[in-house]
Amino acid sequence: MNIVLLGPPGSGKGTQGALLAERTGLPRISTGDLLRSAVARQTPLGQKARSFMDQGLLVPDAVIVGLIEEVLASDDVERGVIMDGFPRTVRQAEAVDRSLALRGSQVDHVLYIEVPEEELVRRMMGRSAKEGRSDDTPAAMRKRFAVFWKQTAPLVAFYRKKELLREIPGTGTIEAIMQGITSVVES
Ligand code: AMP
Repeated sequence: MNIVLLGPPGSGKGTQGALLAERTGLPRISTGDLLRSAVARQTPLGQKARSFMDQGLLVPDAVIVGLIEEVLASDDVERGVIMDGFPRTVRQAEAVDRSLALRGSQVDHVLYIEVPEEELVRRMMGRSAKEGRSDDTPAAMRKRFAVFWKQTAPLVAFYRKKELLREIPGTGTIEAIMQGITSVVES
């Protein structure tokens, strides 16, 4: 089972993805985590990605598509995968489809976690105080929202057309949100 978690910055994708991974036994793969690790290790990927990440911009598709292909070709995702933070553009979504098709598979569910914008800003301010991520500055945060609405939100229509999109209310307790997710995934 291949699941895409879609939602604006601060929607709780990471938290819900980790819980869902526990419940389903499927690996959760976050391109954000892979990129942060590459930056920390100063690999060529990290060197290419760093300035985009710090500004709250998407790392260019030309860089990310290769990473997606690599991830989805790996034996770790043979039984399925929870995609957290990718695809983020239509071009990436097409790369996901192509990579899964190569192994006779496809995207099964797209969970769009919906949270009102004021709540998102509030959550992200809290997170920046706690985690000190270099892209949680107010300027980068504003940029990441703008980037989400411009470049990633078109995926809502893309997956709705394929009848894969399910909207999950992303407010309430972590457990209540998880309930919404599992009811879709287990249906
Ligand atoms: P995240 O942890 O998912 O919020 O990602 C943090 C940052 O990493 C983003 O603001 C982007 O700069 C970069 N990033 C992560 N995933 C992607 C992706 N699929 N495409 C482009 N950039 C990404």
